[in-house]
Amino acid sequence: MTTTVAPATAPFRFFDVHVVRSQRVSTSVVRITFGGERLAELASGGRDQRFKLFLPQPHQDIPVFHDTGDGWYAAWRAQDPAERAVMRSYTIREQRHEPREFDVDFALHGDGGPASRWAFRARPGDRLSVLAPAVEDNGGVDFRPPHGTDWILLTGDETALPAIAGILSWLSPGTRAKVWIEIGHEDDRQPLPGFADADITWIVRDGAPGARQEPVLDALRAAELPEGTPYAWIAGEAGTVKALRRHLVRERGIDRRAVKFTGYWRRGATEEDLIAELTAGTAQADED
Ligand SMILES: Cc1cc2nc3c(=O)[nH]c(=O)nc-3n(C[C@H](O)[C@H](O)[C@H](O)COP(=O)(O)OP(=O)(O)OC[C@H]3O[C@@H](n4cnc5c(N)ncnc54)[C@H](O)[C@@H]3O)c2cc1C
Repeated sequence: MTTTVAPATAPFRFFDVHVVRSQRVSTSVVRITFGGERLAELASGGRDQRFKLFLPQPHQDIPVFHDTGDGWYAAWRAQDPAERAVMRSYTIREQRHEPREFDVDFALHGDGGPASRWAFRARPGDRLSVLAPAVEDNGGVDFRPPHGTDWILLTGDETALPAIAGILSWLSPGTRAKVWIEIGHEDDRQPLPGFADADITWIVRDGAPGARQEPVLDALRAAELPEGTPYAWIAGEAGTVKALRRHLVRERGIDRRAVKFTGYWRRGATEEDLIAELTAGTAQADED
């Protein structure tokens, strides 16, 4: 499974940014637009472009973080966890050049995560730092279908919706795509951009206690897939992502190299927990 502990700085760079506006786009999603002085140097590669967000602790107005260049990760880890900036991974939903700003869609979840909480309360002028790409062709873009791909399979939850939107707007006109998106509420459906010939299935989770946790897996199992060579991209809750990948590789016979899968979050674990596991070397690449 792809991991995202600490991107090297080059071709990434630190930017101080501020909230320009905040818009509640649906029950589960708030879109925050960021501006900043040096945003002319930010170059999103589109698609599923990831970046790191550094948030202030609840008792701070600005994140406590020192840009130490390539040594930033060791310096950040050496700081007091109660004082240092909270680091989280997000996706650039859209970058614009006139005016220079970019959007991030935050999935709001009720588990008290600092990023979700920050986004819920964000107001124009709030400040934070980001580690974001300075060149378009950068290692923070995972969606890279090889030549010879006949059709695209995409699946994810609200956290992956920004990446799915970015991927659909990047695909060439006429590209065949089958897409499954799991959402918490009917109004979390979004109009999705793109010229691709995309067949999009929205799956609204049943929040009832004891309800099935992986409705998207059921939907995929029941689906008839097109002929030809696929390239699959899967993101969302780590357990669901693994189950989906296993289904595609074992039951559908899709070449494992053609399945890009990333756990965007894990039930019961904060991003600090995941980083600690990865740093300690205890997280194993999924051997299937
Ligand atoms: C490459 C990458 C790109 C990402 N892009 C986006 C993006 O564009 N938009 C976005 O919203 N998220 C995105 N995520 C996911 C986001 O980083 C996680 O959801 C993160 O854990 C949120 O941080 P937090 O501080 O709110 O919660 P944490 O402090 O990390 O976690 C607190 C608790 O909340 C739970 N939790 C975390 N996320 C969710 C969730 N979505 N639903 C239910 N429970 C949850 C955890 O299991 C934990 O129990 C991305 C992740 C990666 C790795």
